[in-house]
Formats: sequence, structure tokens, C-alpha cells
Amino acid sequence: MVNKLRFNIAKFGAKIASQVSKLGFGSGNNLPGYVFYKVAGKEALKDLAHEMNVGPILITGTNGKTTTTTLLIKLLSCDTEIRKSFESNTIHAITTGILKGSGDIGVFEYGIRNKIYGIPDTVQRLIDPVGVVYTTISREHSQVAGVKNPFDEYVDAKSLLSQAMARGVIISNVDDPVTANIAFNKQEDVHVNFYGLAIDDINDIFESESPDCPKCGKKLEYSQKFLNHRGIYSCECGFKRREPNVKLTGAHFKPDNWDLTIEGNLYNYTNNRDVSFKVTINVPPFGFHNIYNTLASVCTYATFTPKIANIENTIKEVFNNLDMSFIPPGRFEVVKLNDKYVGLGQGDNGDAAKINALFMNQYIDGPLEFIYTTPDEHEEEIFEDHLEVIKNLNPDHIIVVPGRKSIEKAQDYYSIISEEFDNTDFYPLSYEKMDERIKKLVDLAKTSDYGYVIMTGCGEEQEMWENIKQKLINK
Ligand SMILES: [Zn+2]
Repeated sequence: MVNKLRFNIAKFGAKIASQVSKLGFGSGNNLPGYVFYKVAGKEALKDLAHEMNVGPILITGTNGKTTTTTLLIKLLSCDTEIRKSFESNTIHAITTGILKGSGDIGVFEYGIRNKIYGIPDTVQRLIDPVGVVYTTISREHSQVAGVKNPFDEYVDAKSLLSQAMARGVIISNVDDPVTANIAFNKQEDVHVNFYGLAIDDINDIFESESPDCPKCGKKLEYSQKFLNHRGIYSCECGFKRREPNVKLTGAHFKPDNWDLTIEGNLYNYTNNRDVSFKVTINVPPFGFHNIYNTLASVCTYATFTPKIANIENTIKEVFNNLDMSFIPPGRFEVVKLNDKYVGLGQGDNGDAAKINALFMNQYIDGPLEFIYTTPDEHEEEIFEDHLEVIKNLNPDHIIVVPGRKSIEKAQDYYSIISEEFDNTDFYPLSYEKMDERIKKLVDLAKTSDYGYVIMTGCGEEQEMWENIKQKLINK
């Protein structure tokens, strides 16, 4: 137990810091957490986290973290008071979320790129989560701050967030062999609730290579592929996908809205008993990937809500009233500009770019232009994944623009693309003059002669993509 006086002084200091940050001084948002951490010391975080009687839930994964967090907050907030934070990649941000709120459950997004720049095992030890949620794991930035970040280490860092858990529940996407394996490895120690699809008529329309078995390294066999590496998989070694606890059992995709039926049979941690439910929701046609975010949030909500009797009604209440504003800034969406459809937003890993392409594909009914923003140097693996997406969409015209810093590397990527496709253009727009880059990208989309335009690839999600979206949509 940390000295009580120091603990209280730290909380008081953090409170003042939160007043200061409201006034807009300094780097604002995470200041209260930072002050607490500095004054009380990091071990005091344990006491702070334990002020929540149920405990904190951490959400991690490559894609879908922010959306899942947003949906989960909406769901749990209907039933109980919670503490929360978004897009938090640091312990200070989580600490700030704990300090600023009240309630016995905490919902915190936690992104981890690698072991050096994240401290997943320390976060686990100090925050002592009762829930760790894995959305999906795929390769993303193969380089972080100039250091190579191999996929194995990236997966290890994600695993460390739950590896020492001795209580609580791991919530995991069972259709993703990587996230499923992390949960399989922990099922002797804690409860595991899986979510996934259980319908036959969803099949990935794009070809993709099967990943290796996380247990033995051989290529996985798939009897059905839903989306990229997510599907029904098995391996000679015995590793195979399990039946999900929360699953999509019905889907009716209409042009303006979708009906989704979700069934659950799972362990509720807060009441220490099993629960089951079945509910049909009506949602905007929000893209296939958001079905996974919906399942992740519903599964986590049903695992932790103190009010079991509310489950079906709360799910209906939240999802039947959902509009597209739940999508985080900079993320992909399709907008109608006069008589053309423009799909635009961040896609800086292969999985995200493909999800964007699938989303756009719902609208495409004629010649397509692809405005592609490239990765940086040392990000050839991301480019390979992007190139697959471009090939699958097979656009009639491709415009290549640097998405990150290196113009030379963008030119190299362009050369590869122009060997594969006839109708291509390159605009060497600089990173330093971001305003000009954004202006040109907006112009390209606005003045395009094509009825269907997709603009995606690399680029900072808020700095670049949200800016472009605002400029395009407001005019
Ligand atoms: Zn295997």
C-alpha cells in the first residue's frame, strides 16, 4: 500500500492538473494522469485502479479498437456508471481516464505497437484489468520510430497485456487465429469469451494468402474465409477455431440498413454466472468490419454488465439508434459528391485498406479511380499488402501520392504500380507542405471524371484524413 497521504496529494494534484488542462494549457489531455504518476509513483496506480469495484477493461488490437471502445461505452453506460478513455496508447492516458470518472467499471482503449514503446506487461500489472479485449491482429507499421518491428514481437507485445492475468475474462475474436490463440493460451487461468460469425453466406470476395498456424507454423487450412485472415480455420497440429460464445447468426443486408441477429451464451463476470440472449438489431449499412466491432462490443458488454436483465433491451436501444457518427475521425467512409461516390479515409495497414476496399465495393458500379497514398521507406511489407488490394479492385486509373515523408520511396512504389497498370499518374507532394498535399488530394477527388473514387492508404488519420474529409464534405 502506497503511503495514503502521498496518494491523496497525488490525486489532488491531478485534480488541479485537470482544471488546468480544461483551460487549455500545455499538452492538456493526459496531464492529470501524468501528475498523479509523477507525484504518487507508478505503484500507486494499483490502488487507484482498485478503486473500481469491478475493475478496468482494456481494448487492444490492430484495427477496430476505437470503434469497439466507442460502442462498448455506449452499451455499458446505459446500465451503469463507467470511467473511460479513447485512443490511449500511454499509461498516463489510462490513469487520466480513471481519475476523471467515477464508477466501478473502466473502459480504456490501449494501443500497443511493440514492447519498447508500449509497456503492456507493466500496464497489466498496475492496472490489473478484469477484461482484455482483442479485436484483430494483423501486420501494420513494420517499423516504429526507426526500429524494425517484426510481426512475432508485435504479437508478443499484445499477448503480454493479458499473460499475467489471474482473474477476469479475455474477450477474443475467434475468427482471427492470432487473437484466438492468445485466448486459448490463457483459458486455464481465466474465463474466455469468444465472438465470431456463424453464417454460411458470408465469403471474402478478395483472394488472400492464408497465414501460418500460430502453434506450429504450418499454413492454416480454411473451410470458409470471412475477411482476410478471419474465417474458419484448422491445422494438422490440432489447432482450430472454436464455436463463438457471441455470434452473428443472421444478416439481412438491405441498401439503406441491415438487420443483424446476434446470439450469446457466455459467462458474466460481474454476476459470476452464465447468461444467454438473442437479439435482432437494425443498423446503418456500416461496412462488414463493423459487424466485428459490434460483436466485440456486445460480447464485452454482456460479459461485464451488472444488469443481466437489461442485455437485450440495451443492445437494441444502442444499435437501433446508431448513426454513422460513431466512426472515429479520419476513418474510411463513403460520401456522395453530386453524382459520384467518393470513399476516403485512413488505411495504413493492409487489413484496413482491404476493409476500405470491401466497403467501397458495395457502391462500385462503373469505372473506378484509385487515389493511393503510399507508405514510407522501410514499409515495403505494407506496400505489398496495399498492392494486393489495388490489384483486387483493378481500378481504371490510379493516382499515386506520397502518404508519409519520403517522396523518393513513394516514387519507387509508383514505379512498381506503373509496371502493373497502364493508366497511372504520380504527384510528388511533400510532407512538410501538408496543406498543399491536402488541398491537392481534395481537388483530385472533386474534379475526378470517374463516378467512383477510392482514396486510401497511409497518412496521419486526423492531421490528413479528417482534414480532407472535412474539406470535401463541407463544400
Ligand atoms: Zn498447427
